Amino acid sequence: MDAHQTVWSEKVAQDVIKQLEKRRMGGSYAPTAAQAKGEIVEMIPAGATVFRCGSMTAVDLGLWDEIAKLPEVEIIDPFRPGLSPEEALEVRRQGMAADVMIASSNAITLDGKLVNLDGMGNRVAAMIFGPKKVILVVGVNKIVPDLDSAMARVKHYSAPVNSIRLGLKNPCVETGLCADCKSPQRICNMWSIIEGHMIKDRIHVKLVGEDLGY
Ligand code: SF4
Repeated sequence: MDAHQTVWSEKVAQDVIKQLEKRRMGGSYAPTAAQAKGEIVEMIPAGATVFRCGSMTAVDLGLWDEIAKLPEVEIIDPFRPGLSPEEALEVRRQGMAADVMIASSNAITLDGKLVNLDGMGNRVAAMIFGPKKVILVVGVNKIVPDLDSAMARVKHYSAPVNSIRLGLKNPCVETGLCADCKSPQRICNMWSIIEGHMIKDRIHVKLVGEDLGY
């Protein structure tokens, strides 16, 4: 990202943060992934349980390695190697009662709406209700003008790329394009649009001035 893109990113991100605040959600901006990582780690209280949700953004940041170093913090991690599908499902259930969940958002609109699409639903369910605190780390590449462009981004870009990443047997893996499949491995089953929250600042969006995740 060059200097001009950096200026654009901060201006737009600060405007999105104002829109989030009007919706009783919190937001903050970090120009770099490294700064975002430090600021997110500082938000995790001592002794907290932290639910790991599927997010390449968090992985790109190296966030989980950093959180694992925190004393007295327990990561509820359904991606732990060696778990059977049944065990991973049970860990996802436990995550619903965590102190903190960390994920990204598939898209965020200029007026502060969070748009996500899940295969199993645990990530969007936990964003909506369950964990006491929700921290979403979002690269500026996921800021879109409105709901239509958010849904188009998610369906025609995020979902096919994630299908490819996960090695699924979905048609979009072959073509790169969504075929509205009915595959058993379809990852596009539950939409969520979060427009605000009754619990003020339960959701905090950390916007990052870099392209991160899908
Ligand atoms: S609906 Fe199916 S084909 Fe379309 S993006 Fe999702 S998984 Fe891929």
